[in-house]
Amino acid sequence: MKLIRHGPPGAEKPGLVDIDGQLRDLSGHVRDVTGSVLDDRSLDRLRDVDPQSLPLVARDSRLGPCVGEVGKVVCVGLNYSDHAAETGAPTPKEPILFFKATSAISGPNDSVMIPRDSLRTDWEVELGIVIGSEVRYVEEADALSHVAGYCVVNDVSERDFQTKRGGQWVKGKSADTFCPLGPWLVTRDEVPDPQGLDMWLDVNGERRQDSSTSNMIFSAAFLVSYISRFMSLQAGDVIATGTPAGVGMGRNPQVWLAAGQTMRLGIQGLGEQRQLVVAWPG
Ligand code: ZN
Repeated sequence: MKLIRHGPPGAEKPGLVDIDGQLRDLSGHVRDVTGSVLDDRSLDRLRDVDPQSLPLVARDSRLGPCVGEVGKVVCVGLNYSDHAAETGAPTPKEPILFFKATSAISGPNDSVMIPRDSLRTDWEVELGIVIGSEVRYVEEADALSHVAGYCVVNDVSERDFQTKRGGQWVKGKSADTFCPLGPWLVTRDEVPDPQGLDMWLDVNGERRQDSSTSNMIFSAAFLVSYISRFMSLQAGDVIATGTPAGVGMGRNPQVWLAAGQTMRLGIQGLGEQRQLVVAWPG
C-alpha cells in the first residue's frame, strides 16, 4: 500500500494511492495516518478495504507529510562513504545520530523556506524509515518486522547553523520546512529490499545526487537495531538514514540553495518530491 495524507497543513486527511495511481480518501476507515494505525494488524485491515469503494481525492489537493503526529525524527549522519569523503570526514565506525525537530516536517511538495541569517542551505535526499510498532533492543534479524514502511525524506540543512554555531548539528537541521516527508508511505511488503533502491536529486533540472541505497554503510535493519539500543522507537517515528554524495557542501566550488530554485528528488518505488525554494517571509 501507498498511504498518503491530503488537505491543508494541520488538517490532513488519510488516503491511499490506488492501482491506477489515483488518490483515494480513507477518512471513512481511519482518522489519520499516524503511528496508531501502522502496526501490522491495522495495516492488514486497511488492505482489506476495496480502493474502488473510496472517494477520489481532488487532483489539485495538497499532499501533507505521509505520516502525522511523528514522535521523533532520528537522523543518521555520514552513512554513505562517498558523502563522508566529500565532506572531508572519516568513515564513521558507528552510526552518527542526531535529531531534527518534528516542527520541521512538511509536505513533499511544500515550499522550502531559507531561514533568516542563512548563508549555506543545502539538500540531502534520504531513505526514510517509518516505525510501525514499538521497539527496544531488537536484533538486526527482527528489526525490519517493526518497520511500517518507507518514504522519501529531504534532510534540508543549513551548514553554517550545523557546523559553525556551536554545539550539535540540530540547529542546522530543524528550521520549519526542513523535513519534507513523502509523497507516500510505502508499506514494507512493497519494498522487499530497502538496500537496492536508486535515489536522486535535481536542483533546477541539474542532477546533483545520483546513487542507490546499496551504498549505505549501515543498512536499514542495522540502523533500527542499533538505534533501539540507545532509545526506544515508537510507531510513527521516522529515521532519516543518511545521504549519498552530491550535496552542495561537497561540491567544488560549493553551491547553495537560493530563492526561486526548484528541488526534485525521488527514490525508486517511493515516489518523487518537488519543492520551490523561497526566502523566509518578512
Ligand atoms: Zn542527512
